[in-house]
Amino acid sequence: MKLPWHTSPVRQMQREQMARLRQYLRRTVLPFSAHYRRVFAELQLDPDDLQTVDDLRFLPFTSKDDLVATPAEPNKARAFILAPDRAVLARRPGILLHTLLHGRRATQRKVEREFRPIFLTSTTGRAADPIPFLYTAYDLERLSLTGERLFGVCGAAPEMKVLNMFPYAPHLGFWQAVYGGIAAGVFTLSSGGGKVMGTEGQLRFLRKLQPQVLIGMPTFVYHVLHEAAAQGLRLSALRRIVLGGEKVPDGLRRKLGMLAEALGAPNIEVLATYGFTEAKMAWAECPHPLGEPSPGYHLYPDLGLVEIVDPDTGEPVPPETPGEIVFTPLDARGTVVLRYRTGDITDGGLHFTPCPRCGRATSRLVGRISRRSGVQAMQLDKLKGTLVDFNQLEHILDDLPGVGAWQIELRKHNDDPLELDEIILHIAATGEASEEQLVHRIDSQFARVEVHPNRILFHEAGELRRIQGVGVELKEQRLVDHRPSTAMATPSPSTKEALK
Ligand SMILES: [Zn+2]
Repeated sequence: MKLPWHTSPVRQMQREQMARLRQYLRRTVLPFSAHYRRVFAELQLDPDDLQTVDDLRFLPFTSKDDLVATPAEPNKARAFILAPDRAVLARRPGILLHTLLHGRRATQRKVEREFRPIFLTSTTGRAADPIPFLYTAYDLERLSLTGERLFGVCGAAPEMKVLNMFPYAPHLGFWQAVYGGIAAGVFTLSSGGGKVMGTEGQLRFLRKLQPQVLIGMPTFVYHVLHEAAAQGLRLSALRRIVLGGEKVPDGLRRKLGMLAEALGAPNIEVLATYGFTEAKMAWAECPHPLGEPSPGYHLYPDLGLVEIVDPDTGEPVPPETPGEIVFTPLDARGTVVLRYRTGDITDGGLHFTPCPRCGRATSRLVGRISRRSGVQAMQLDKLKGTLVDFNQLEHILDDLPGVGAWQIELRKHNDDPLELDEIILHIAATGEASEEQLVHRIDSQFARVEVHPNRILFHEAGELRRIQGVGVELKEQRLVDHRPSTAMATPSPSTKEALK
């Protein structure tokens, strides 16, 4: 793209995005993607049919169902990997010239860098099998670029020190932070999270490094800072906490701010990032003081096209309107999905006005993001015959003063599959409120969603960490289903198996 990524006016930006999409489809996706070649042929669709963003509706959505392995089709994701065809490549205008100038071997290396998969991250779905997304060297250059931009949006500076507490795993969050630190030239210690170094390891790094920035998953960062405060640590250098991998409720931001203050770091900023495996990139919120509305996530219009659609009809919605987030990459190799339906709902939509905080003109994704799939995936509709939205319960618990870490446990009465569902709420209390007062607060808040926990059990913070599986599970368990008859909570096959 000719214009800098964050200064183009909206219309010009959208024109350039569509031009880039047409070129990307014609040169890269259609010649080398088995899936999209078939889709375009079946619909008799040509890249030139996609002139304006309105025309995107001609391009069918891709969803998780198109990728997830089934017994009949165990390799569905493979049809989305770009596989170069020698004959087609040889006709590319630049390739012949490159061979003439640099020789056949150099051209071979260039093609390998662009198309050979050498890296992978996978989805972390709680219910579904993980889906592998392959990267080539070309993709890793873009992972560096988006990492550098993400660090830039968060206000990282060369003299800062960053502690990256994301779990060490083939997941986007960890690697985006690693590549971002290197590309931005900022000292970043990637500890691997609780499973690799334990809470003790994180506390040791915090004490010795005195980082300005912490990166990690919300629940885990909360646990570590809670423990740091309990041990009387001082973290006066801390300025920012950058969170990813889960949504970040306002209540949790507030609690992190209070913990940081207790650790000698008042006035920190808590920033969320948003990214997903299928995008191979993540976006950060523009820095803003705690308690003030978020200006939103700064997108990279030259690398991806974000649309918001009505989750029921699939129709694109006007700017600044809530809806489901849909993503199309504009320069990816390896595994490529077009118009990918994330199942994530933003309540603020896409904004095209300059950012009220930093003035960048790039489009922004504004508002709270929650997972649409959460409800169905956890089969909560069957709970006591009432439809329960886990997203809502999560927000309620995170926003409740006096409630620290928590877990919702689903059981059958007496562990009998034929008995009624039970909801047990595990709580680690913080602050001054008595257990009686907290029970009252929880009951009155839960009444809003017509759910009542059968029991509320109070635990010490350490015991709750054990229940949540901090340092044992990759994601802390905030909702567990111990009902004997349900099929969920089965261990997912490893990524290796999913790749076979
Ligand atoms: Zn901004």
